[in-house]
Amino acid sequence: MTLRITNIQHFSLHDGPGIRTTVFLKGCNLKCPWCANPECISSEIQGDFGYDISLDKLENEIIKDKPFYETGGGVTFSGGEPLLQINNLEPLLNSLKNKNINICFETALFVPEKNLKIAKKYSDEFIVDIKMINPITCKEVIGGKINQFLNNLELLDLEKTTFRIPVTKFSLKDTEVILDLLKNYKPKHLEIFKLHNLAKSKYDILNKEQYYEKINDNQINEFHEKLKEIIPNAEIIEI
Ligand code: SF4
Repeated sequence: MTLRITNIQHFSLHDGPGIRTTVFLKGCNLKCPWCANPECISSEIQGDFGYDISLDKLENEIIKDKPFYETGGGVTFSGGEPLLQINNLEPLLNSLKNKNINICFETALFVPEKNLKIAKKYSDEFIVDIKMINPITCKEVIGGKINQFLNNLELLDLEKTTFRIPVTKFSLKDTEVILDLLKNYKPKHLEIFKLHNLAKSKYDILNKEQYYEKINDNQINEFHEKLKEIIPNAEIIEI
């Protein structure tokens, strides 16, 4: 059994608690124009972007970092959309769970419910990206069906969940709807971040245009203050 990935990042500090090993799985069913990992969107191998790895080999890579997990860390499956490869991933999850390794998924939640249910059996943490709440822009801009996201949100254990919001003109426009969502679904933590254009060279190699917009400090601070009224520990992060 293999998984298709683009990278294994050791000593990762921004993908869940503690020091973590982040595995970037290849393939995503959305098309966020600001995506920081554009090489993870297609499930095809694209030149140097992507390779297949056996579960045993990947497990060895993860276990190598075990001493660092004493910081409260563990492994994070990101991407791309990691839940799209959940069936192939499950035997590895089972083995990692038996070794008491903390497991986190970073997901956009636009996946079949059955995929999420498998991930839930093994995960200690979820990082859920809130990209677009408006049903029309969600479909037109990122290609997602908002009802799928909302139905999956119902299944999550919010005490294990961190929400992440990219601050864009879309999220600023939808501030009130996001606030309503947070009133109904209070995660244990909320992180917001500005877009960056560090992935530009990857976009150039892939011959794709990167969407980038500059959000000023006042805009993000004002948004942050409103979010803090509902989630007091909401923080601005740099990723
Ligand atoms: S869900 Fe993540 S990986 Fe997929 S397109 Fe959006 S930002 Fe990129």
